[in-house]
Amino acid sequence: MGQLHLSNTMQIASSIAEMRELRRQLPEPVGFVPTMGFLHEGHLSLVRRARAENKSVVASIFVNPTQFGPNDDFEAYPRDEERDLAQLEAENTDVILMPQPSEMYPVDASSWVVVEGLTDGLEGAARPGHFRGVTTIVAKLFNIVEPTRSYFGQKDAQQALVIQKMAKDLNMNLEVIVCPTVREPDGLAMSSRNVYLNPDERRSALVLNESLKLAQQLFDDGERDAGLIKRKMREMIEREPKSEIDYISIADTSTLAELDRIEDGALVSLVVKIGKPRLLDNVILGGPA
Ligand code: AMP
Repeated sequence: MGQLHLSNTMQIASSIAEMRELRRQLPEPVGFVPTMGFLHEGHLSLVRRARAENKSVVASIFVNPTQFGPNDDFEAYPRDEERDLAQLEAENTDVILMPQPSEMYPVDASSWVVVEGLTDGLEGAARPGHFRGVTTIVAKLFNIVEPTRSYFGQKDAQQALVIQKMAKDLNMNLEVIVCPTVREPDGLAMSSRNVYLNPDERRSALVLNESLKLAQQLFDDGERDAGLIKRKMREMIEREPKSEIDYISIADTSTLAELDRIEDGALVSLVVKIGKPRLLDNVILGGPA
């Protein structure tokens, strides 16, 4: 490791020891943005928020094998290290943690972090074992980086709630901050997986945001019957020939319990397969989008 000039040179830590050494020299407070790379404006919005609220910024790039199921796209997950590093450098990131899978998951590792309850439904039900992988890797990254604050996207609403719950339940000494979903100009939520969409599918994918706007409109017009809102969303999505609904949910914003009637706020979330990729999106009714 060379001499450190943290004010104007981005450092790359490819081992846990290197990260810990760099961490000791970072001015407090430290903001942290965990990612799986193939960065887009959604990720960069988290980095900018971390930059604005902290003296130092650490981002990690790690495609975490334990959160992918056997039929998921772990091997095919898009990667572009060079472009990621250039984008993070342009945002004045101080340290990039890019750990080796063999160091993150030694063959004899046998400990997991599990958040019960909140992980039962939605992505937890659709992807068994997914959240165990997410909470385990995020807890490990928190232990390695020791951030003051960490930043997650509302795009993955259940993930953000699960991480907040983990941090609270396990007395982790950091703040978990959730940032708004960044969208393409036509409304599609940005995602690393959008790269899988061919031009026809890219057009069809707009139906996710359109159906959420329909839910918002019905709610604004006074509709409180969750079943009715979900039916209308389903009808709209089914008119899109390339779409296959995985689930549509209207749930309590803190417990994720499915709602019949919307009393206060609600999290409307959906997953729709458009061609190969499963696309996720959500909106909060009765609160900030
Ligand atoms: P990923 O690389 O997919 O694991 O995402 C890393 C972080 O970026 C997570 O906290 C995501 O919720 C967040 N993120 C992904 N897409 C968006 C988006 N369109 N807007 C805001 N945050 C996002």
